[in-house]
Amino acid sequence: MRHLYIHIPFCARRCSYCDFSIAVRKRVPAAEYVDSVRREIHLLTFGVGAEWVDPGAAPRGPSPVHPSLDTLYLGGGTPSLLPPDAVAALLAALRESFSWADTVEITLEANPEDVTADAARAWRRAGVNRVSLGAQSFDEGVLRWMHRSHDGIRIGTAMTALRAAGFDNVSLDLIFAVPAELGRDWSRDLDQALALRPDHLSLYGLTVEQRTPLARWIARGASAAPDDERYAAEYLLAHERLRNDGYRFYEVSNAARGGHRSRHNSAYWADRPYLGLGPAAHSYDGMARRWNLPAWEQYRGAVTAGRSPIASTERLTDEQRELERVYLGLRTSDGLPLTASARLRPPVTAWQRQGWVELRGDHVVCTPEGWLRLDGLVRDLTKPNGAM
Ligand code: SF4
Repeated sequence: MRHLYIHIPFCARRCSYCDFSIAVRKRVPAAEYVDSVRREIHLLTFGVGAEWVDPGAAPRGPSPVHPSLDTLYLGGGTPSLLPPDAVAALLAALRESFSWADTVEITLEANPEDVTADAARAWRRAGVNRVSLGAQSFDEGVLRWMHRSHDGIRIGTAMTALRAAGFDNVSLDLIFAVPAELGRDWSRDLDQALALRPDHLSLYGLTVEQRTPLARWIARGASAAPDDERYAAEYLLAHERLRNDGYRFYEVSNAARGGHRSRHNSAYWADRPYLGLGPAAHSYDGMARRWNLPAWEQYRGAVTAGRSPIASTERLTDEQRELERVYLGLRTSDGLPLTASARLRPPVTAWQRQGWVELRGDHVVCTPEGWLRLDGLVRDLTKPNGAM
């Protein structure tokens, strides 16, 4: 496993659209969290699930696990809620069990309100070299509606602190297609984001997940449901604006300039194996997925008692793997490799006429219009009479 994900589940509050596995805490149990991840690594090292870090290894006796990491991603939740010394302790614990080269990409997800000059310097000293900043919007009304804990000004302050601390790889997350009643000016938000010159942007359309405050607001008529036309118009506007500013979309939701692609997320999209640690973290070995107990207290209880925190494992069927291959291929700008005969068969030729895909060598690559209908294209390609 060259790619490691650590799930840090704590958040100050739940955002209105979020259904992630989180633990809302006023006080983050930082020492307990770091201790739990250490214990999970220990369980892996001494046999429980060791085959996930060393394919082919049977559960075994004491021998350290030493894969060489290419990327490490601290995601959540809100990893920036961990005090900087706990982030340093976590990275030190990981270094004891995983070797990594100087070129390792270490990403920390941060919310703007947590990014102070001191915290940014401490993260940098601990080895973090990429920060993904959850901006979402610069509009105060939208931020309040989303239950975010920062204001628009704070995003710029955070960016300044990160640059001053030496971060030359910073990503901003934005959410588009919020309900029209909020009066959000998406073009203005894009202007404000681009003015900060992030190295990378992740743009996500608002979706309504079950059991979120947003789903309840919509159910009782207090908020409008997402609008497909607004979604398409804002997505295409973002493509145009970012392209004009020197960014290149390399995945349906992600754009970079100066080659600052997320190496960690690119590994997911290239179908590479990865290991996840922490509550709710997923792992993948190329043939099967497994995931940890989602609730922090359950996870903590299991690893403290020396039990495996794995909640479940799923071995992928051939059909699932084929669906993944098509979906992963079409979502990136590298495209989906197809045989020459497959490229000439419907529905690919029909999509070309519609302007939804282009052929580049032996790859079919989505255009922005194609990415807008990605799920439908994948469905068409993988149904029995599709091009595959
Ligand atoms: S900060 Fe992120 S993980 Fe936490 S509730 Fe908000 S969107 Fe979800």
